[in-house]
Amino acid sequence: MDKKISIVIPCYNEEGNISVLVDKIFSITHHLEYDFELIFIDDGSKDNTIKEIQNQCLRHINIFYVELSRNFGKDQALRAGLAVANGDAVITMDADLQHPPSLITKLVNYWEEGFEVIYTYRETNNPHVSWYQKLFSKAYYKVMNFLSSIELEEGISDFRLMDRKVLKSLNLIIEQDIFFRGIIKWVGYQQIGIPYTPDKRENGEVSYSIFRLVKLAVSSVLSFSVKPLIIATFMGVIFAFLAVLLAPYIIISYLLGYAVSGWTSLITTIVFFGGLQLFILGVISLYLSKLYLQSKHRPNYLIRKTNYLNISNDSVKF
Ligand code: UDP
Ligand code: MG
Repeated sequence: MDKKISIVIPCYNEEGNISVLVDKIFSITHHLEYDFELIFIDDGSKDNTIKEIQNQCLRHINIFYVELSRNFGKDQALRAGLAVANGDAVITMDADLQHPPSLITKLVNYWEEGFEVIYTYRETNNPHVSWYQKLFSKAYYKVMNFLSSIELEEGISDFRLMDRKVLKSLNLIIEQDIFFRGIIKWVGYQQIGIPYTPDKRENGEVSYSIFRLVKLAVSSVLSFSVKPLIIATFMGVIFAFLAVLLAPYIIISYLLGYAVSGWTSLITTIVFFGGLQLFILGVISLYLSKLYLQSKHRPNYLIRKTNYLNISNDSVKF
């Protein structure tokens, strides 16, 4: 029997893209000797995405949907897809056609060669990305690689193929704030990265605002390292040392009767250290909030409805 490959596609307000995407994928997979299935994860879309998907399900027996109970975010939608998919390999890709389906052949060929994770990264210098996205992306990967122990390529995407073994490992991970691009590196296995040029978004809006990108950056750093805590501690030590250096100045000013003239330096110091302390407290509370959320053991996503047969009760990960 042919090997089965599940293609998992998270969708949030993608009604205009579904049918085009299905056609494009099938035009590629058609030529390959595998059983392909498409699993669409509707991540609480506000438009008719789920209707579009269900229409496709009526047309093709190898298309399935998993409807989440609300919008849980792309990473959780992916996680829902990976938890249910039962192919020998799983490919994850975006619904907006930015991940060229033509690359599927290449992904599968590398898989046949024995690679277990075949990930893709955006070729830099592509015209479809705005300047602030480029700038942010550069800074983002620099900071991320500095702060965590994971080396991520710039432009690494969620378009990848994973062997069943990798999937099993991923499904063991129970952390709430999962960051797939990092976690994939963390799991190890035989990995290879291939570059691609993203296509322009077909329909709908890019759903990541700058604010969401910042949030993503913060959560990816927090989920991979405690370096910010170490840096905060070092800063505390350095500034305490600097404060000690101020002591002679304070004593001499006092002895010479200049105390009042020190107002400027005093207020500067107070404001500066006040700010620094708030910053460090902020860093600590970010970690604390992660701990708090994790300690509640809430499920990461909830499935409202699905026509995928192999879902068992334990498919919702705790
Ligand atoms: N997506 C999702 N949930 C969300 C936001 C996005 O499932 O809350 C999906 C979206 O439908 C698309 C993919 O994640 O298939 C990537 O989203 P988008 O194209 O907006 O982001 P980008 O291409 O900038 O990563
Ligand atoms: Mg996109």
